[in-house]
Formats: sequence, C-alpha cells, structure tokens
Amino acid sequence: MEEVVIVGAGIAGLATAVALKRVGIKALVLERWDGLRATGAALGLFPNAWLALDALGVSHKLTSIYDNVEVAFVTNLESGAIQQVPSARTNVDAQSGPKLVHRKALLEALAEELPTDSIRFSSKINAIGSITDEGSSIAVVHMEDGSVIKAKVLIGCDGVHSVVASWLGLAAPVHSGRSAVRGLAVFPQGHRLKHETHQFVGAAGRRAGFIPLTDKDLYWFLSCSSPAEGTDHLAGNPELIQKEVIENYAKDLPELYLDIVKHSDLSTLSWAPLVFRQPWKVAFGNLSKQNITVAGDAMHPMTPDLGQGGCSALEDAVALGRHIGTSFIQNGGLVPNEMARALANYVEERRWRATWLITGLYLSGWVQGGSSWVVKLFRDTIFYRFLFRKIFSINHYDCGKLPSIADEEQTGNNKKFK
Ligand SMILES: Cc1cc2nc3c(=O)[nH]c(=O)nc-3n(C[C@H](O)[C@H](O)[C@H](O)COP(=O)(O)OP(=O)(O)OC[C@H]3O[C@@H](n4cnc5c(N)ncnc54)[C@H](O)[C@@H]3O)c2cc1C
Repeated sequence: MEEVVIVGAGIAGLATAVALKRVGIKALVLERWDGLRATGAALGLFPNAWLALDALGVSHKLTSIYDNVEVAFVTNLESGAIQQVPSARTNVDAQSGPKLVHRKALLEALAEELPTDSIRFSSKINAIGSITDEGSSIAVVHMEDGSVIKAKVLIGCDGVHSVVASWLGLAAPVHSGRSAVRGLAVFPQGHRLKHETHQFVGAAGRRAGFIPLTDKDLYWFLSCSSPAEGTDHLAGNPELIQKEVIENYAKDLPELYLDIVKHSDLSTLSWAPLVFRQPWKVAFGNLSKQNITVAGDAMHPMTPDLGQGGCSALEDAVALGRHIGTSFIQNGGLVPNEMARALANYVEERRWRATWLITGLYLSGWVQGGSSWVVKLFRDTIFYRFLFRKIFSINHYDCGKLPSIADEEQTGNNKKFK
C-alpha cells in the first residue's frame, strides 16, 4: 500500500510530488515513458508560476539562468504595422518574469528535489478503480504489465487524455479548431538577437513568433486554424513539420523567422491540436471522488493563449500540498476520511479558478485570432474595454504557501506533538 500515487511525471505530477515531500509525505510517481519528456521545448512562466515555484523551493534554480522577457513586438502581416508591447506590464520584480524556460530544465529542477526511487519510469497505467476496506476507500491502479498498486490517495496528473479524469466522469476535451507547432532552434555560434519576443499575426487566426531562451537557443511557434482531423500525419514527423512550416504555413513570414525554423533541432519539433475542457464541465464536473483527484491538464486542459496551462499546474501542486499536508500534519498521518475532505477542499479552491482560466484564455485566443465583423465588434466594444484587464490579471494570482510542521507545532495542531 502506497501513501500517495501520482500518475504522470509532467509539470503537475513532479510539482505535486515536491509539494508533498516538503510537508513530509512520500509519493510514488508513475510515468509511462522511459524518462522525463519535454514535449513543446519551452514555456513561458508568469508571476503566478514564480510564486508557486517559490513555495516549492525551486524558483532560484531557474531565475539564476533565465532573463525576463522585457518587450514584445507584434507585426500585423496584412498591414505591416508593428506594435511594441512592454512585458513589464506583467512584471512584479526581476524574479517574477515573465521568463521563457526550457521545459526540460523545469522538469529536472523539480525531479532533482525528489528521492531517486520516487519516480517509476516505463510504468503506464491502464485503468484505475476503488475498493472499500474497513470502511475506507482505497485507490487501485492497474498497470499495463498486469501488476496492481494500491494507494491511500491517487492524483491523476496524466495530461489531456487522463485515465483518472475519465474515471471521475469528466467530459473529454474538445478541439478548439486550431493547432500549434513548437520547436527549438539552435545556433551553435550564437544567434545575436536581443532578448525580445517577436510575434506575427495573419489572416484566419494565424499566429507565429520566436523568443530567445539563451544566447544559442531560440524557441519558435506557429498556431493556425486546422480541422480536428486531417493534420494527424504531421504529429511525430518532424521533417514534415519543418517542411510544411517553411513551404506552406509560414511562407510569407520574414526571412529571419524562416531561418530560425531551418535551424530547428528536429528532435524538439511537435505538432498538436489545441484542445480544452469546456469550462462548465469543470465548474460542475466531479473533480474528485473520495481519495482520488486530478491536477494540471488532467483537470483543466486549456488553450495556450496567455500561456497559463503549466503555470496553473504549479498552482494546483501547491494547493494540493497545502490541503493534504495540513491534514497530514494535524492528524499525524494520512487518515482516509480526512483525505477525502482534504481533496474536496482542494477541488473547491481550484474549481472556479480553473473555470475562469479556461474561459479567459479561450476568449482571448478567439478575439485576437478572429477576423469576422462579429469578433471585431466584440473585440472593440466589450473585450478591450471591459474584459482584457481582468483576463490579463490572471497571471498575478498567488496560490499561497505550504504548511510547515514547525508552524503546526507552535499552534498545537499537530497530534504527534500534543
Ligand atoms: C502550443 C502550446 C503552448 C503552451 N505554452 C505554454 C506556456 O507558455 N506556459 C504555460 O504555462 N503553459 C503552456 N502550455 C500548456 C502546458 O504545456 C501544459 O498545461 C502543461 O504541460 C501541463 O502539464 P501536466 O503535467 O498537467 O501534463 P503533461 O505535461 O501532459 O504531463 C502528463 C504526464 O503524464 C504521463 N502520462 C499520461 N498518461 C499516462 C498513463 N496512462 N500512465 C502513466 N503516465 C501517463 C505523460 O507521459 C506525461 O509525462 C502550452 C501548451 C501548448 C499546447
């Protein structure tokens, strides 16, 4: 019997394991791949993510390597107009970003906080279930190799197509009508570009851009309208992705952008349909059942507009660590009925935040990408006047801190010390 089993060693799974470790709980992380996977190459981390990483005690490892992105230039491909957007608007201080980091660096910074035997690779789960033992719910994990693992608490951090979310009865994510390509370009002699974001917006919701990560590495991306099916042949075929971007999707983009795409490290290229869970399915869905819950994309897959999926997965981890940790410290262990209550409290803390994030990001992507008169009318009369500031403020959310055993000792809440 494991104390806590976490499915998935992505951002949500590793961050949750770190949060639990910091409150004294050992978790077993099950990952289907044979190592850490950094699909997507890089991601933007905003002030809310840095506050969460502070609570997890790992932010210093990354803030010392990556600089803040100070300014963004947005070029309208149709009119040629270039707009300068200072990203200082989202800054709190030099440590709080926004910063672009290698996904691998983030995953490694989290993983190295954990004991080596706590992540079990090549461990795919096929199904989960629940049994009752002496009145307490026990989670049962069925592995692909036929073995079974039992746990007092089970947290599904298994991404968009989560086995745990579907066991909870959550609706499958839906296609947003757009797909995205991401990759890393490497210039061994240095790219000599300033630390600025360059974005290009075109007709029919097409958006592309690049951002330097280090003196040698650049992250580039492109998103465009695409049917739910019909582009499947691109997934897992990096040579074809690169060719399609250069010869088709980005053929009218500046030579600099095309040159960056040509310098791609092919192993980092990925093509993915952009999906999200309908916000009302999160607002009213079963996000936990007894001692089983979900976090990260498994709970709230969202479109990447404003880059909040990974940031909010870090928030989830801290919230889980706080609710499970407080109960653990106060009861001197993981007490089954108390765990069900702790997970229910976690869900209530996260439910409306996740609902608002999915809605705000979808609206932001829809409004910025649409070219019909309805979208333009909504954008000019409602979105920028009433909604934009509110949506933009989502990245200043503070998910709070983890409880410390010492604080609970002082308040006399810890049963072990009573
Ligand atoms: C184009 C694009 C750009 C983005 N940009 C940003 C950005 O700038 N900033 C940001 O914060 N977010 C961004 N995101 C969102 C971000 O990538 C995700 O929200 C984040 O990776 C979610 O992390 P996760 O750990 O929940 O899920 P995942 O990263 O998907 O991890 C899930 C893990 O579970 C494992 N797993 C799955 N099923 C099983 C199973 N059955 N058994 C065992 N293991 C399993 C997987 O192998 C994987 O390792 C972007 C997303 C896209 C698509």
